[in-house]
Amino acid sequence: MHIETELIHAGHGPDPAYGAVMPPIYQVSTFAFRGVGEPGPFDYSRSGNPTRKALEDCLAAIEGGTRGFAFATGMAASATVVSLLQAGDHLLVHNDLYGGTYRLVTKLTATQGVEVEFVDMRDLDALRAALRPNTRMVWTETPTNPVMNLLDLPAIAEAVRGSGAVTVCDNTFLSPYFQNPLALGIDIVVHSTTKYINGHSDVVGGAVIVKDPALAERMGFLQNSMGTCQAPFDCFLVLRGLKTLAIRMEVHHRNALAIAQWLEAHPKILRVNHPGLKSHAQYELAQRQMRGCGGTFSFRVRGGSEATLRLLGAVKLFTLAESLGGVESLIEHPWTMTHASMPAEAKVVAGITEDMIRVSVGIEHVDDLIADLEQALDAI
Ligand SMILES: *Cc1c(COP(=O)(O)O)cnc(C)c1O
Repeated sequence: MHIETELIHAGHGPDPAYGAVMPPIYQVSTFAFRGVGEPGPFDYSRSGNPTRKALEDCLAAIEGGTRGFAFATGMAASATVVSLLQAGDHLLVHNDLYGGTYRLVTKLTATQGVEVEFVDMRDLDALRAALRPNTRMVWTETPTNPVMNLLDLPAIAEAVRGSGAVTVCDNTFLSPYFQNPLALGIDIVVHSTTKYINGHSDVVGGAVIVKDPALAERMGFLQNSMGTCQAPFDCFLVLRGLKTLAIRMEVHHRNALAIAQWLEAHPKILRVNHPGLKSHAQYELAQRQMRGCGGTFSFRVRGGSEATLRLLGAVKLFTLAESLGGVESLIEHPWTMTHASMPAEAKVVAGITEDMIRVSVGIEHVDDLIADLEQALDAI
């Protein structure tokens, strides 16, 4: 069925107890056995919970996987995936990725005997050359934050196939509505459901979706062993947000593209990084791999950091805040906010400059959002 229908129906029917149309919040830690040696379908909420299962089954359906797993945060999801690795394994990571993932693999995974190596995976020859006999995982993220570079997922899956490594894609920026990495040959999809999947800036959560049954078994073992699962009430909120993913993503995409086009034509704007614009270096790849671009993109302001900071101080409708993917529009300064922990040289290599602004365009009326940016640009 179409994703719009799966979002509403996949993972649950009316609740078996009383026919509740939406899954109730099973806010319990433990479930009664029918007798000694006769557990019901659930026994303890870390191992499984009906509210979580409804969310996990819906996530599996919309990403085209066989199993979904809901985690306490996006980082809990990523940490659990990285725990597939053991000391002596080699982990290849795309060199432009979410700061929290960078911190996880450099400050934690690398101290546990896993060899962590960064490579620019836009260069497939560099990726092939970096593969080693002990490479067990290849970690991608596309589009990247905040410069909106893309990775060619089918080409990466092809390059890694047969090497013995699993491929991972952090699909947070596009959500399952606009991009399905499993269908493009990737083995494991990771999401921060905090962003578009929940979509209302009122919960933190993460997800993992896989297709291969053996990998699903292993992920279930790790989620239960590490206790990184999401609580029932948060699962309920994420599932509630998920119901409207299709209509939200359509508006995020439409609003953001309209604003990107408007900014690109504005004399005070130096450059707009949006994969839906023909000026984007990987526009063709975006058309091939993605069904839309979501609401997040970045741009550079003429006049350096002074003009940039003045614009950030002058917006009224956009809220100055980190995070993305909610119904409300947010604006931020990657140099001093989301990417502050990155050394300046690393930021420059990644293409992050002091005159860069990132926006997460919400679902307000686009004319009001443009009017706000216009008055703020006038204030420069
Ligand atoms: C926010 C984010 C994460 C981390 O998710 P949390 O829910 O904040 O733990 C991982 N990857 C990407 C791309 C993100 O934007």
